Amino acid sequence: MPTPIPVAALGQPGGVPPVCVRHAAPAIRRKPVLFRSTPPTWSFLLILLGVLPFAIVATIMQKRVTVPNWPFCRACARQRLRRLLGGIGVALLGFIAVIGFSAAMPPSSSLTAVVVILSFAVLLAGVVFASTSGWATLAAAKLASDGTSLRLRKAHPNFSMATD
Ligand SMILES: [Zn+2]
Repeated sequence: MPTPIPVAALGQPGGVPPVCVRHAAPAIRRKPVLFRSTPPTWSFLLILLGVLPFAIVATIMQKRVTVPNWPFCRACARQRLRRLLGGIGVALLGFIAVIGFSAAMPPSSSLTAVVVILSFAVLLAGVVFASTSGWATLAAAKLASDGTSLRLRKAHPNFSMATD
């Protein structure tokens, strides 16, 4: 894993990666990306009290930084499109199945319930998959929990911050 990028350097010349981090390929576009830190481990215990207390604490504890010009290459753009279209396609299929099966199968049968729940799970899986097409997920960089540096989690072996 390459050295984390100090957040303070991101606004400086040479602070933002010169090429795509994931594929070490030339950037075809630069996008504003909001990077977040993972909430502290102990905050997940709050889920026991309910999702809302966890969500509130996690939101407060989470550090965020927006990089206005993160580089993405052609492979990144393709991956984004695949995830987005694939996810939407699967979700649509699940949606049609939910509607179709609930209309076509006997409403009181327990098999109908199972089939409809499974179709709904397919719909959700599609939505989750489509949600991985966000630029921050594609960039695969994570803000350290103190918010001072960006860790490049899936950097290409050939990736380097040097601009030669
Ligand atoms: Zn890329």
